Amino acid sequence: MITTTLSWIASQIDGKLDGQDCEVSAVSTDTRTIDSGSVYLALKGENFNGHEFAKSAENAGASAIIASEPVNVSIPVVYVEDTKLALGLLGAAVKREIAPKTIAITGSSGKTTVKEMCAAILERRGSVLATNGNFNNDIGVPLTLLRLEHHHEYAVMELGANHLGEIAYTTNLVKPDVATIVNAAASHLEGFGSLLGVARAKSEIFKGLGDSGTAIVNVDSQFADFWQGKLKQKRVLTFSPMQKNEADFTAEDIIVGLDGCAAFQLCSNEGEAAIQLIIPGIHNVGNVLVAAALTMQLGATLENVRDGLLAMKQVKGRLNVKTLGSQVRLLDDTYNANVASVNAAIDTLSTFSGINVLILGDMKELGEKARFYHEQVGNYALSKGIDYLYSFGVLSQSASAVFDAAPGKNGEHFTDIDSLVSALEQDLQVEQQDISILVKGSRSSRMERVVEAIEASS
Ligand code: ATP
Ligand code: MG
Repeated sequence: MITTTLSWIASQIDGKLDGQDCEVSAVSTDTRTIDSGSVYLALKGENFNGHEFAKSAENAGASAIIASEPVNVSIPVVYVEDTKLALGLLGAAVKREIAPKTIAITGSSGKTTVKEMCAAILERRGSVLATNGNFNNDIGVPLTLLRLEHHHEYAVMELGANHLGEIAYTTNLVKPDVATIVNAAASHLEGFGSLLGVARAKSEIFKGLGDSGTAIVNVDSQFADFWQGKLKQKRVLTFSPMQKNEADFTAEDIIVGLDGCAAFQLCSNEGEAAIQLIIPGIHNVGNVLVAAALTMQLGATLENVRDGLLAMKQVKGRLNVKTLGSQVRLLDDTYNANVASVNAAIDTLSTFSGINVLILGDMKELGEKARFYHEQVGNYALSKGIDYLYSFGVLSQSASAVFDAAPGKNGEHFTDIDSLVSALEQDLQVEQQDISILVKGSRSSRMERVVEAIEASS
């Protein structure tokens, strides 16, 4: 964070300083990460009250506290009405001070990947601050803004939502120059009621765009018109991740290598570039289109896009392609799952020759229509020519059931990992040829256990 004073902080967060002004260089909400010179901001949640740790913050070397309740400490305190809102105000104030060119990204899937792509591209041009991991909610976003320093020229922010209004709040702190919704699909439906509820919640991101801001719209989404309708006064550029529609950013001549990585021609309103991805998954073609559209609005060139993507780091836990012996490829995509990301992973699986096997765990948080969405995935796997669908869990049984009902297809449900792995071994022995196995499920399905069991048995 920038070095500033307690009185400046108080003025930005509508606070009342009780004690001596002093210089500060960090704000922390966690007493375990307090250094001397830090301000401890006491958050209050349903199950915890950070004010109880004010004394430990002082003992750990904090030079001041931001609080909304009386705290018994001998260091200065800035009192505010609501510490969570104060955190937001402070993040927004630091953003205004540094004024980096800023990207905001939301969507049901691909936010972190697009964020990493944008950061890698913009690093070709200058110093970039990007969201760490998944710090994308109403606390993570302001904490990310607080990490801004004077050398930062760009900020790449991931905005997530668990409830309506969350992105409206965070985008108003971030005030992006360019913003996008990568996609809207069935995920967190329990929080949003319906798919339209998801699309509406995501559309809040555009509220933070200023008059000169640009929105990047996915024209292949069923919600493209809905979003465009909200952007009548704004500059809009489009991308077509599925190569279905005309758009400002499109892909041609897509080839997927044996490692699952795509190469293609990126076509934009500023010309074309040959792109080679070093992260697997055909869905990353669409992610590149949106990352190119976002970064090129901030001055990146097509060469920056091409070179940045080559320098990009693998995003941990996402679609890792491992080779087991010479015949079998294991596609480990166990990080998380919703309908869009499972379909995207099926797309990638279907690009491999030979026998394709999907091992699906439950997709969680889908509410009343959970069964329907699992069946939809089973049908999608059928439409993509997948050969085997093994399900593991409870809800995913609906996917293997519709799959098995199709002529010549093998769908089977398992309730324990050992029987799944031995059924797989038997089937693979029968096939005796090139085989690709995709393992995917929601985080809480812990499908990495299946990956470990397959690796151990091979
Ligand atoms: P989270 O909500 O956990 O923050 P995220 O939106 O940041 O997720 P990523 O972490 O980039 O998304 O990717 C999560 C999963 O979604 C991965 O399994 C990846 O394979 C898949 N995925 C990535 N991009 C897309 C896309 N454009 N469309 C569909 N699925 C995608
Ligand atoms: Mg993420």
